[in-house]
Amino acid sequence: METDTITAISTPIGEGAIAIVRLSGPEAIEIANQLFDGKSLTDVDSHTIHYGKIIDPSTKQVAEEVMVTVMKGPKTFTREDVVEINCHGGLVSVNRLLEIVLAQGARLAEPGEFTKRAFLNGRIDLSQAEAVMDLIRAKTDRAMNVALKQMDGRLSQLIQKLRQELLETVAHVEVNIDYPEYDDVEEMSHQMMISKTREVYREIERLLEVAKQGKILREGLSTAIIGRPNVGKSSLMNALVHENKAIVTEVPGTTRDVIEEYVNVRGVPLRLVDTAGIRETEDIVERIGVEKSRQVLKESDLILLVLNHGEELTQEDLNLFKAVEGLEVVVIVNKTDLPQKINLEKVKELAKDHSVITTALIEEKGIDDLEKAISETFFEGDLDAGDLTYVSNVRHIQLLKQALQALSDAMEGMENQMPIDLVQIDVTRTWEILGEIIGDTVHDSLIDQLFSQFCLGK
Ligand code: GDP
Ligand code: ZN
Repeated sequence: METDTITAISTPIGEGAIAIVRLSGPEAIEIANQLFDGKSLTDVDSHTIHYGKIIDPSTKQVAEEVMVTVMKGPKTFTREDVVEINCHGGLVSVNRLLEIVLAQGARLAEPGEFTKRAFLNGRIDLSQAEAVMDLIRAKTDRAMNVALKQMDGRLSQLIQKLRQELLETVAHVEVNIDYPEYDDVEEMSHQMMISKTREVYREIERLLEVAKQGKILREGLSTAIIGRPNVGKSSLMNALVHENKAIVTEVPGTTRDVIEEYVNVRGVPLRLVDTAGIRETEDIVERIGVEKSRQVLKESDLILLVLNHGEELTQEDLNLFKAVEGLEVVVIVNKTDLPQKINLEKVKELAKDHSVITTALIEEKGIDDLEKAISETFFEGDLDAGDLTYVSNVRHIQLLKQALQALSDAMEGMENQMPIDLVQIDVTRTWEILGEIIGDTVHDSLIDQLFSQFCLGK
């Protein structure tokens, strides 16, 4: 059990109507109470919220108008006493509030430390703990929904269901091994094993398919804007940032001062971080050639290729098309306010199945269409994040891939009429790998589980 009281800003840093400074630990209520001008927080009921003022002890001045939520353990997120101080969302107010709380004796939480306490105190399982971490970093509402669903235990439940199915399969095989004289049992368990493993295989495949979108939601699409000089790349960037209120985040609690710029385009977070220096690239192809620029551009999830409506296509434009072949591209023909010189038919041909959008950024025209195209590129149709159980965590994705491999080994064995007890090894391995996702079974053996759940007649 931890003994000190930790604190941190628990809402994203940046714009926002309110911000929350959260405390957790044995002194949480006492510390808040010493700063609070209002009801005595040590006397109020658990899970109640109170209006009042925060007095800075060093100046005796009112620092903030706040709402304070008092939650006594163990019915809290960390199972410790938790206090949340809601204040106005500005960067200055919330930082000042945090400083006052720290001066009163709380310790600055390490990244994820609240979650770690929740995990250590048995409040949540590992995949839920990771979901909370994702939630902290969620950049858009969509991402937030995914993390919330996972925190709800959706992923855990699904994984548990899959493991249960594998377990049943193995149980049947065990029976089969013990009673080899029943031929029909053998035939049945073989059939059942094939259909069950296929089922589980498909589920895992589906999870991995949506994982790609999960990653986008969590990390943002690294986005490169490319085009010849003067076509309007900077204007495009400004338009996107301006229209969409860029979210500037410092990853809370970390010492690295990484500032990333996120633009939320209809639920798709574009990460305008300067990865590999290609955020806005004037002459990449000329500088390093088509092949090399392909390599560099491949690092981006999305490329916005800008052309000039008022000029004919040049060799440089054609090189850019070559460099982005096979990548995720939206083509933007800018400056439609100028007389048309560009051959739009040719542009559409070069763009193949990618969207071509026309804009006059100088008149703020076409930005809506562009945003629509970006969002449709990644969420075909009206995909509702809330309906899907996303997997957006790298560790989970790795484990799911391993599980898929183990299952495919098992399926191959069955097809090749391998002895069932050998096939079973792969199924068991899949079960173990899936267990790692939810941090279960650290070392309960499969057999123990079998005995506790099934009567095998032994
Ligand atoms: P970059 O070099 O590709 O980054 O292009 P800029 O965004 O810096 O724009 C180059 C010039 O084109 C600037 O003078 C812009 O004001 C102008 N410009 C941008 N968009 C448009 C547009 O839609 N129409 C016209 N006529 N000019 C534009
Ligand atoms: Zn520029």
